[in-house]
Amino acid sequence: MLKYVNTGVVFQEIPDEVTLAINISGCPCRCPGCHSQYLWEDIGLPLNTEALDDFIERFGNDITCLAFMGGDADPKGVCMLAEYIHVTYPQFKVAWYSGRLRLPSNIKKTDFDYVKIGPYIRHLGPLKSPTTNQRLYRQTEDGNFEDITYRFWRKVAL
Ligand code: SF4
Repeated sequence: MLKYVNTGVVFQEIPDEVTLAINISGCPCRCPGCHSQYLWEDIGLPLNTEALDDFIERFGNDITCLAFMGGDADPKGVCMLAEYIHVTYPQFKVAWYSGRLRLPSNIKKTDFDYVKIGPYIRHLGPLKSPTTNQRLYRQTEDGNFEDITYRFWRKVAL
């Protein structure tokens, strides 16, 4: 069962969106240099449709997007919740921050407006580092995904 530890309204994780980040526990990725090892444990509250209803009642007026931060132990579960949001609350975008190199082939990528993939590797840095191995993709109108990782990189003046 998916569980979440906490949530927070964030501004930088998804460009151009105000996002409710939902931090999911039970992470199986074991990235070297993990910055959130507390998320490896099986802790927190059930993350289900009732929890999503509650988040949207509390934060819905302040956000444009909900992001599943983790959930790699149950990709199908993440997809089902993403689909629930799109069907029940179509005004919101849905994002998934996965620590995997690629998403499993049996999930429906189009359930997500944004997908971040890639484990955290300390010497390569997070998304905002130009050397990062991680990538953020945005779904385009034709259902393909474009790499928008560059949106995290600040332009350096000459
Ligand atoms: S995906 Fe990697 S960095 Fe993120 S919580 Fe899991 S082990 Fe840590």
